[in-house]
Amino acid sequence: EAEKEISFFFPPEDTLAVIKPDTQHKEEILEEIQAQGFTISQLKDTILSREMAEEFYKEHREKPFFSQLVDYMCRGPCTMLVLTKENAVQEWRAAMGPTDPDQARLTAPESLRARFAKDVLENAVHGSSNTEHADQKIKFIFGDIETEESFAELKNLQSSRS
Ligand code: UDP
Repeated sequence: EAEKEISFFFPPEDTLAVIKPDTQHKEEILEEIQAQGFTISQLKDTILSREMAEEFYKEHREKPFFSQLVDYMCRGPCTMLVLTKENAVQEWRAAMGPTDPDQARLTAPESLRARFAKDVLENAVHGSSNTEHADQKIKFIFGDIETEESFAELKNLQSSRS
């Protein structure tokens, strides 16, 4: 009997989510994250340096939109989050919806990008595309010791919901 139960247990997974600069809907996005059952395991607001933004998106270095993307990502504070849930990587990708909000509005009208993205570049949110990237980017963003503000913000968020 005990073995049967264990076979239905899937360990939670972590993904890196980012609320990108100039998103006017941070609070709604944080609410949606919690409504969808993600645990916010880490949270901090950070302004990326150019070098960090380039490193963060290094997989896209050869793309025609790379320099615009880097400009955008370091233009203001990003809210960096580690989201934890069973199948978190895939679930967060689904919650975001397609990269281009025009497509998102057609195929996933409830998604965050359908609701909150401005255009294909300024599309409000980021999420790791696989578990390997998730682990790598979480280490890159949260590798060092957490700041006191980030704990304070996480605490406020938790107490406002309880
Ligand atoms: N992007 C863009 N133009 C494009 C495709 C992507 O400006 O044609 C930007 C957009 O901000 C996107 C990011 O580059 O979120 C990374 O692109 P990717 O293809 O990895 O999309 P995502 O995984 O974010 O949906």
